[in-house]
Amino acid sequence: MMKQHQAHRAPLDLAGIGIGPFNLSLAAHLDAVGELEVRFFDQNESFAWHPGMMLPDVTLQTSFLKDLVSATHPVSPWSFLSYLVANRRFYAFLNADFPAIPRQEFASYLAWVAASLPRLQFGAQVREVDFDGRDFTVRLASETFRARNLALGVGLRPAIPQFLNRLRPEAAFHSSRAAFELARCAGKRVAVIGGGQSGAEIVLSLLNRGVGAPAHVDWISLRPNFLPLDETPFTNELFTPPYVASFHSLPEARRHTAVEREKLAGDGVSAETLQAIYRRLYVLRHLETGGPSTSLLPHREVINAEPMEHGCQLIMRNGMDGQMDIRKVDILVLATGYSYELPSCLAPLASRIDLDRSGRPRLDPDFAVRWDGPAASRIFALNAGLLSHGIAEPQLSLMAWRSAVIANALARRKAFDVERPETMVQWLDRMPQGAEAGGKA
Ligand SMILES: Cc1cc2nc3c(=O)[nH]c(=O)nc-3n(C[C@H](O)[C@H](O)[C@H](O)COP(=O)(O)OP(=O)(O)OC[C@H]3O[C@@H](n4cnc5c(N)ncnc54)[C@H](O)[C@@H]3O)c2cc1C
Repeated sequence: MMKQHQAHRAPLDLAGIGIGPFNLSLAAHLDAVGELEVRFFDQNESFAWHPGMMLPDVTLQTSFLKDLVSATHPVSPWSFLSYLVANRRFYAFLNADFPAIPRQEFASYLAWVAASLPRLQFGAQVREVDFDGRDFTVRLASETFRARNLALGVGLRPAIPQFLNRLRPEAAFHSSRAAFELARCAGKRVAVIGGGQSGAEIVLSLLNRGVGAPAHVDWISLRPNFLPLDETPFTNELFTPPYVASFHSLPEARRHTAVEREKLAGDGVSAETLQAIYRRLYVLRHLETGGPSTSLLPHREVINAEPMEHGCQLIMRNGMDGQMDIRKVDILVLATGYSYELPSCLAPLASRIDLDRSGRPRLDPDFAVRWDGPAASRIFALNAGLLSHGIAEPQLSLMAWRSAVIANALARRKAFDVERPETMVQWLDRMPQGAEAGGKA
């Protein structure tokens, strides 16, 4: 039980837990709504967007127009264009004509908004959330707030296969720490596990290191090859509100199957990164001497990692011929992705929340969690709806639209136009009633 503190007197209309891009986008929308009393909290001292993956030359996988607000509130002062203008780089940005913009630029935009937008509180970890029968109580280290509604924007957790937990900390690290740890790989035998974008960016960074490069790099992927992100137009239709509405209306089992089928639309490696890796491998193999040697190992399932005095022994099954393979490595880089977990601060409410078989909360079309509390006390969950709203959920693509839907639900009016836009593809023969999320506003 947490130490009790005097709760601030008037309840907030909304307490936001976590300030990553998703709750930041919601905060930017609520700033325009105006009439609501809101406060957002983040445990970090200041805003930083995945700093552990800010490697040289990494780029945004989505258009910069899919920023915090533009899709739903293009006149907002918190748009990417406003950032360019305020920072006197509008013309230079246009002249640079980036095919994909540096991730550093987008992180800098997000940090600019986070530094200026009111009602954000950093250095404020939410330790416990409970419900007193009327309001939520949101406990921080030294203050407690009451709130009528919550927005959970706590992001995802690094996913680490269980057998890897036995390794010593110096023998392995997750990709979310790569920028801080890659220097340790100098002269070592390194295996990068994971054939997604993070794994690819880390492999490229290791191959490009020059002085300080590893002796050898294994790139291991469960997928049958190093597969590209599908960025073609009809696949991009999956990242639109009409698709989300159709997806949400499906029975749960069909939604699970669809997410599996659509994996490469959100999880593949961008074509530019694959090409950069291939070109670097060519140079290392044919034109330069002294660089790291490499083994590219797709279709390999790592089934165990035995700790050794230095590093570990990896045991893998080759999915192409079914043979087992054993490799010794000094350092393992786990580009094994992220998974959803109900935040621990919600423990007092966990048994009251309706969870699906993956442990995610079941969500209404407007991103409200189904729970057994009063209908007027709502818990909105962002980045939790992979299996309820589809593969756009963990991406930036629909962040502004989701924020507008939630803002409408909170304001109980159509503060933003979230009507279903025109779609090229007829996903279902009959659209579900009220499928426009936000119809509850
Ligand atoms: C390296 C990387 C690159 C990506 N690039 C792209 C891209 O190019 N395009 C795209 O569409 N998507 C991209 N994504 C996916 C997605 O856009 C990001 O993961 C995004 O940051 C998700 O935002 P979020 O707000 O849900 O979570 P996060 O950014 O993880 O933020 C969550 C915040 O919650 C805080 N928090 C957690 N618990 C508490 C607590 N109890 N109290 C207070 N604060 C708490 C954390 O400190 C953190 O600041 C990328 C993801 C990664 C990992």
